[in-house]
Amino acid sequence: MADLTLAEITLDQLPDRLLTLAPTEIRRVFPDPTLIHMPGGKGQPVFLSLLLHGNETTSFFVLQRLARWLRSHAQPRPLLIFVGNVHATEAGKRHLDGQPDFNRVWNGGNTPTHHLAQRVLDRIKAARPFAAIDIHNNTGTNPFYGCINALSPDFLHLGALFGPTLVYFRNPPSVITMALCDLCPAITVEAGKPGEAAGIERAFDLVLDTLHLQAFRTKGLERDVKVFHTVGRMEIEDSQRFGFSPSSDAPLLFPEAMDHWNFCPKQAGERFAQLSEAGQPLRVFNAAREDITARFFERRPDGIYLTRDITPSMITLDSTIIRDDCFGYLMEEVEIRDQHEIRAAI
Ligand SMILES: [Zn+2]
Repeated sequence: MADLTLAEITLDQLPDRLLTLAPTEIRRVFPDPTLIHMPGGKGQPVFLSLLLHGNETTSFFVLQRLARWLRSHAQPRPLLIFVGNVHATEAGKRHLDGQPDFNRVWNGGNTPTHHLAQRVLDRIKAARPFAAIDIHNNTGTNPFYGCINALSPDFLHLGALFGPTLVYFRNPPSVITMALCDLCPAITVEAGKPGEAAGIERAFDLVLDTLHLQAFRTKGLERDVKVFHTVGRMEIEDSQRFGFSPSSDAPLLFPEAMDHWNFCPKQAGERFAQLSEAGQPLRVFNAAREDITARFFERRPDGIYLTRDITPSMITLDSTIIRDDCFGYLMEEVEIRDQHEIRAAI
């Protein structure tokens, strides 16, 4: 497994060489996971975490954009930037074989990656950040959305800077924003598919807007946002053959381009999949890993139908990800009227 030295550097400017590299060449500039301190500007620093997942390259391109922007603009606030799994980025992978997922190591553990994460966390805590932004991509067709771990006005303000679609979650606790959410407003942004221009632009704008922000709101919310929370995780039984194309002969057949259903409300009574054999191979689990399939789906002779209104998200058509991780999630909207109601709804 790759060596896990944490490099720590203080810079006035990001390196020129960074501007012309492809993501897979990142180790020419940052040979190891690197924590970059950029002390320019005033106030508390903005913390950015980049490339926790090596092949989610939008964050690399945001760093390039930021490097260019800083050549012609004064830095509004200090920056603290963690460039994470550079070995996986070099290999074009989420993480290397045998390596833990860099976004599941932030709540303690005993591998070299957990120790590295703890050192990074110690530095972030000492820096008392103003805000934390963790930039990711996903594989299905999703709108841009931000994930927040608290529903207070400052987190909603940060979330609304990225866009109107937010997801609230507290599980898994091992992601970096959960480790930071008691320190400062923190957001994980899902900026579409890796390297897409619109996602780079949106994530870069969030970084710039946050760098220029004087203070977060302590009450109220000026922009319309929709906040969802996950009620279940959909999985397909391991042995089940499934498909998305009308020409597929798989017994479990989902609608073609079903990832376009992501974040679109679906109604009770809608057919979710055709199924030409017995059983219910599409299962739903809650955070405690209890099987809650019966709350959402019913088996009818020709398929699997929704029994209640629900919004699917993060559905992927990639069978490797479906097998390794999951098929997608089921979400409900959280009503945001006042804080007490928000807390009661979760
Ligand atoms: Zn990711």
